[in-house]
Amino acid sequence: MSNLIIFETAPVELTRVQPRCYVETCTGFFKATGQVLTAFPPLYVHICDTCGVEYSFNTSYPTLEYKEKPKSTSEMVTT
Ligand SMILES: [Zn+2]
Repeated sequence: MSNLIIFETAPVELTRVQPRCYVETCTGFFKATGQVLTAFPPLYVHICDTCGVEYSFNTSYPTLEYKEKPKSTSEMVTT
Protein backbone atom coordinates (compact mmCIF):
# COMPACT_ATOMS: atom_id res chain seq x y z
CA MET A 1 0.00 0.00 0.00
CA SER A 2 1.19 3.51 -0.79
CA ASN A 3 1.20 6.30 1.72
CA LEU A 4 -1.08 8.60 -0.24
CA ILE A 5 -2.02 11.81 1.55
CA ILE A 6 -4.79 13.92 0.12
CA PHE A 7 -4.75 17.63 0.93
CA GLU A 8 -7.91 19.63 0.73
CA THR A 9 -8.51 23.35 0.97
CA ALA A 10 -11.54 24.67 2.76
CA PRO A 11 -12.82 28.23 3.19
CA VAL A 12 -11.93 29.73 6.57
CA GLU A 13 -13.77 32.59 8.19
CA LEU A 14 -11.39 35.42 9.05
CA THR A 15 -11.73 38.12 11.66
CA ARG A 16 -10.00 41.51 11.64
CA VAL A 17 -8.61 42.60 14.97
CA GLN A 18 -8.02 46.24 15.83
CA PRO A 19 -7.34 47.91 19.21
CA ARG A 20 -9.78 50.53 20.45
CA CYS A 21 -8.55 54.00 21.34
CA TYR A 22 -7.53 54.32 25.00
CA VAL A 23 -8.87 57.88 25.28
CA GLU A 24 -11.93 57.57 27.52
CA THR A 25 -14.20 59.89 25.54
CA CYS A 26 -13.17 58.47 22.14
CA THR A 27 -14.82 55.59 20.27
CA GLY A 28 -12.15 55.34 17.55
CA PHE A 29 -9.73 52.58 16.57
CA PHE A 30 -5.96 52.61 16.14
CA LYS A 31 -4.67 52.20 12.60
CA ALA A 32 -1.05 51.66 11.57
CA THR A 33 0.63 54.66 9.94
CA GLY A 34 3.27 52.52 8.20
CA GLN A 35 6.00 53.98 10.42
CA VAL A 36 8.05 51.37 12.31
CA LEU A 37 10.33 52.18 15.27
CA THR A 38 13.57 50.19 15.35
CA ALA A 39 13.22 48.50 18.71
CA PHE A 40 13.35 44.82 19.62
CA PRO A 41 10.66 43.73 19.00
CA PRO A 42 9.84 46.49 16.48
CA LEU A 43 7.10 48.99 17.36
CA TYR A 44 4.41 49.93 14.87
CA VAL A 45 3.18 53.50 15.16
CA HIS A 46 -0.62 53.87 15.16
CA ILE A 47 -2.93 56.85 15.06
CA CYS A 48 -6.54 56.87 16.27
CA ASP A 49 -8.88 57.32 13.32
CA THR A 50 -11.15 59.59 15.37
CA CYS A 51 -9.14 61.79 17.79
CA GLY A 52 -5.68 61.39 16.24
CA VAL A 53 -3.85 60.26 19.39
CA GLU A 54 -0.63 58.33 18.67
CA TYR A 55 0.39 54.98 20.20
CA SER A 56 2.79 52.16 19.31
CA PHE A 57 2.12 48.40 19.38
CA ASN A 58 4.21 45.27 18.77
CA THR A 59 1.69 44.25 16.10
CA SER A 60 0.57 46.22 13.07
CA TYR A 61 -3.22 46.66 13.25
CA PRO A 62 -5.71 45.92 11.78
CA THR A 63 -4.48 42.34 11.68
CA LEU A 64 -6.21 39.15 10.62
CA GLU A 65 -7.03 36.31 12.96
CA TYR A 66 -8.23 32.86 12.02
CA LYS A 67 -11.63 32.01 13.39
CA GLU A 68 -12.94 28.49 12.94
CA LYS A 69 -16.51 28.36 11.76
CA PRO A 70 -18.68 26.13 13.98
CA LYS A 71 -19.83 22.93 12.29
CA SER A 72 -23.43 22.82 11.16
CA THR A 73 -25.74 20.22 12.64
CA SER A 74 -26.00 18.33 9.31
CA GLU A 75 -22.27 17.51 9.50
CA MET A 76 -22.55 15.99 12.97
CA VAL A 77 -22.82 12.23 13.36
CA THR A 78 -25.48 10.91 15.68
CA THR A 79 -25.34 7.41 17.14
ZN1 LIG B 1 -9.22 58.29 19.79
